[in-house]
Amino acid sequence: MNELNSNVPCLSADQVDATWLNPAQRQCDLETARTQVFDVVVIGAGVTGAGAALDAVTRGLSVLLLDAGDIAVGTSSRSGKTFHGGLRYLEQLNFKLVAHAIQERDLMVKTLCPHIARPESFLYPLTHAWWERPYVGAGVLVYDIMGLKGGAVPLQRHFSRKGLKEHVPSIDQSRVVGGIQYFDALMDDARHTLALVRTAAGQGARVVMRAPVVDFLHEGARVTGVQIKDTQTGEHYTIAARSIINAAGIWADELQQRAGANTFSIQPAKGVHALLKAEAIQSDTGILARATDSVIIARRWYGYWLVGTTDTPWAGGKSNPVAEAADVDYLLDNLNHYLARKVSRSDVLGVFAGLRPLLKSVGGDADATSALSRDHAVIPGPVGMTTIVGGKYTTYRRMARDAVDAAVQPLGIKTASVTATLPLVGAQQWNNVRNTGPQLASRFGMLPMDVERLLQRHGDRVSDLVALADADASLGVPMPGAIHYLKAEFVYAVRAEGALSLVDVLVRRTHLSIELPDGARAVAPQVAALIAPHLGWSHDRIQKELMAFGKLIDAERAALQAATTQHP
Ligand SMILES: Cc1cc2nc3c(=O)[nH]c(=O)nc-3n(C[C@H](O)[C@H](O)[C@H](O)COP(=O)(O)OP(=O)(O)OC[C@H]3O[C@@H](n4cnc5c(N)ncnc54)[C@H](O)[C@@H]3O)c2cc1C
Repeated sequence: MNELNSNVPCLSADQVDATWLNPAQRQCDLETARTQVFDVVVIGAGVTGAGAALDAVTRGLSVLLLDAGDIAVGTSSRSGKTFHGGLRYLEQLNFKLVAHAIQERDLMVKTLCPHIARPESFLYPLTHAWWERPYVGAGVLVYDIMGLKGGAVPLQRHFSRKGLKEHVPSIDQSRVVGGIQYFDALMDDARHTLALVRTAAGQGARVVMRAPVVDFLHEGARVTGVQIKDTQTGEHYTIAARSIINAAGIWADELQQRAGANTFSIQPAKGVHALLKAEAIQSDTGILARATDSVIIARRWYGYWLVGTTDTPWAGGKSNPVAEAADVDYLLDNLNHYLARKVSRSDVLGVFAGLRPLLKSVGGDADATSALSRDHAVIPGPVGMTTIVGGKYTTYRRMARDAVDAAVQPLGIKTASVTATLPLVGAQQWNNVRNTGPQLASRFGMLPMDVERLLQRHGDRVSDLVALADADASLGVPMPGAIHYLKAEFVYAVRAEGALSLVDVLVRRTHLSIELPDGARAVAPQVAALIAPHLGWSHDRIQKELMAFGKLIDAERAALQAATTQHP
């Protein structure tokens, strides 16, 4: 460990504790970064990089976490939002992969973030008499057995055709002979990654978002640091590192090449999800719909229906993949095979697209490229840099652990990961606050359902919102035009959750951009006015933020207006 470094954060005036991320904290961490030699610099604040930063800092290492944009701006806010064991990998007999993913799923639900990760049922509709029930049931039984130790989710249930109708009134009874229900866990990816970053900051990690790594420092063949650009000021900084972890997802191959090696490439594959109105489907369980070439899943997410996903190549820009009309129609058509009351585009509230970081090839010296599991790869090179790619959201903690093990091993550091027992921000006092819904509902004048979601978003940190409302009573009420959210949440987003733009607040801290049928265009000016004083925005800046948000929403929602086309 670097003796010169300390993980004692520099608490600024606007930080209640070190988990609070905001412009003052960012500036402080940036200034510290230019004078330190970090044990580990992590590039990328998606779930993998955030997990790696937390893993490293809780081993007592000095850590800097960087991202070109916002926390979870890449794939980690565009997933299917499910911690899952991967039932379909059982068909490929990949038992180890499934067992690991189930362990992680259960850890999230029971220990690490029970406020964010919740057991959720999924219904597998049976369409063939006799053989399908024992076949699918046996697979789900193995799945259940693997989850017995964790004990975090209920076991499978079987339904007759009639029983199915009771649980899924929307089901087309003429298509099904019965169903099998199994369980995984739903979560909020952007807010979970945020919780990871805040937990890492609380442990002393320095966190600087909107600071892309634009170049690398070298001593001979060894990478000894990074050059970053502060996109807020245009200034460049050089930062020294004993070890660098490249967790840049779909950009990881480009980063490795810039650092001086070229041993793998990423093939981005696009996946689209649509958020449907709560009343679009009558069901008390999620539903699996087998499509010709994939599986479409409808899950209950914050009371809405999240339906996905597609799988098509994407050759456009990596930063802002968008859904096309054909993607949306493909999702709805395949779901409609199983529904008596068909869903249509008029049921769609919002839509988003993400890119899977699929590892295309790993070239070079096969021995030097250690694939620690079939699911993800830890790739050394150039000297001083370790890349972590592939995998899935559910297994981020293992990926992070493997990456940190590999990154610090050459430094002679032998500490082990402790993240399996470390609750994230929002989870520490969860048992004390999980039943406070009725008090919060009467305090804030919110519906019980909305308070439940408030608790899911913030966990025990709901106490921070109460404190904000105590200090300024005008914040302790639902936001007009977005009444599922408390006004204080918008202020909290910029004061404690590191949001630096209107897009950050409306897309990732809240999800109003997909929850409101107008893409949150109407409420955006009010939100901008509420957060502007905390970010020092002028009138001109507010207009720029509104324009940037409007442009993003136009692009993301174009698919909902476009004419229907054939899915490729
Ligand atoms: C449609 C879809 C559905 C999915 N559903 C699920 C699911 O339900 N469950 C599940 O377990 N998994 C799911 N996955 C997989 C999962 O979402 C991804 O594996 C995971 O989010 C990848 O995270 P990451 O941190 O590796 O990458 P990312 O989240 O993309 O993070 C990479 C980060 O690197 C940053 N970066 C890039 N270049 C630079 C630079 N030069 N300097 C600084 N920072 C840089 C980016 O800004 C970005 O924030 C899904 C994936 C997709 C696409």
